[in-house]
Amino acid sequence: MIFVQAQVSNAVSRGLLSYFLTSFLEEKLSRQLSRTSNVVTRRLDRLSVERAFNCCTLNDYRLLLNGLSFEDGKAAWIYGSAGLQAAPGAALYYSKNDLLDWSRQVIVEDDGFLIVDRAGDQAIALKAEKLPGDEQTGFYIYLRPVYSMPLLVIISRIKFWSEVVLMLVLAVLMLLCLRWIFRPVRAIQRDLSAIELNELDSAFLDTRSQPSEFLPLVQEFNHMVERLRLSSSRQKQFASTISHEFRTPLTVISGFIQSVLNRDAMLSSVSVESLEVANRESLRINRMLSDLLDLIRADSNQLQILRQPFDSLASVHEVLKLAGKAHPARKITLESELLAPLLVIGDPDRLIQCLSNLIDNAVKYSDSDSEVVMRIHATAETVIFSVVDHGQGIPDDQQQLIFDRFKRAQGVKLRRGESSSGLGLSIVKMFVTGMGGEVSVQSTVGEGSCFSVVLNRSDASG
Ligand code: ADP
Repeated sequence: MIFVQAQVSNAVSRGLLSYFLTSFLEEKLSRQLSRTSNVVTRRLDRLSVERAFNCCTLNDYRLLLNGLSFEDGKAAWIYGSAGLQAAPGAALYYSKNDLLDWSRQVIVEDDGFLIVDRAGDQAIALKAEKLPGDEQTGFYIYLRPVYSMPLLVIISRIKFWSEVVLMLVLAVLMLLCLRWIFRPVRAIQRDLSAIELNELDSAFLDTRSQPSEFLPLVQEFNHMVERLRLSSSRQKQFASTISHEFRTPLTVISGFIQSVLNRDAMLSSVSVESLEVANRESLRINRMLSDLLDLIRADSNQLQILRQPFDSLASVHEVLKLAGKAHPARKITLESELLAPLLVIGDPDRLIQCLSNLIDNAVKYSDSDSEVVMRIHATAETVIFSVVDHGQGIPDDQQQLIFDRFKRAQGVKLRRGESSSGLGLSIVKMFVTGMGGEVSVQSTVGEGSCFSVVLNRSDASG
């Protein structure tokens, strides 16, 4: 493209220059030559017949040029059998050698017209005319420097701007061509960016609408999607089977530990403590497995979240009961003046799971002697459940990231013996949005965090 561009602009500038040099300059020079050569011819007419025929001597030449004067480097001279005779002024601008040299060159030209290149962008145009008489006479030669002509400046400007305009036009054409060529690539890119990892079933690209050049690429992509889909469904199947298989023995283990703890009063305090730890851990693993199962179900659109009216206060009391069992050493309190049933829209089990996750986090990321508070606040339209801790707090730039799967806040540390999967808050967000609500966090590093779940009231007054 650049090569074509250069060729076109070169051709245009060459065309302009050759028009200027050949047609225009020669015509202009001939006109000026005929004006001055008329003077010379008139003087030649005044010579005697005999001398005119035997022309010419040095004196004749001087006579012929007498009174002719030129400016701005223009010059005239006669070159012939009597040698070189320049009009006054020519010697000021040009050396005798130059004049002789140019004379020899121009008189052999068919049309007596010659352009001589000088250093830089200077040039000299010469026009020669044979003086009347036989071979013994000579040539009358007229010269004008081309560089002094304003037209040359105009032409070089035209040349420059024509090149600029051409380059712009070609650049625009090139861009349009590129846009047109890459249209299918952009369409494929749009399709690719719309693909969701959990919707691989609809990730295949339509091969019918693709240009033949891209067909192998699109087909290869579709094969890759097929392989990914297979591998992802096998992974999900595997994770789901494992989770199911683990949950049953874990529930049994936890049940036995609980019954031993309830019945045997002979247990030493160390044994009780160990059994309680074992029970807590098996409950925790159980919860992680059920989180995992929920995520797998959500990915395959099999997760059911209810949106029906239920008493949220009953769920909150259930959450506090479970939290008391899971964290017997921690002070977890409820701050709420609301006593009557508080009907919200959603899924009671999912709300219990969400608030339990938030309380688990509050306990996990704060000191063992600090209090965790559950607050309930009702507005005309919504009920807000807040879990407040006075723990480490979360840096501002991490507060939105932590709701994504497997994301942990940088700068937040785990206590010894605690573990973290990075799944809890993503499950909370999935459940709360599934119930038509919202979850958010307000946190200050070093002071603590407040996670709030907002659900719509089913008895909204507005
Ligand atoms: P997990 O706690 O298993 O890592 P979560 O999804 O529940 O996973 O939480 C994600 C991250 O958010 C945590 O790793 C932690 O960095 C941060 N986080 C969550 N809750 C709190 C909290 N109450 N205080 C400080 N950091 C928190």
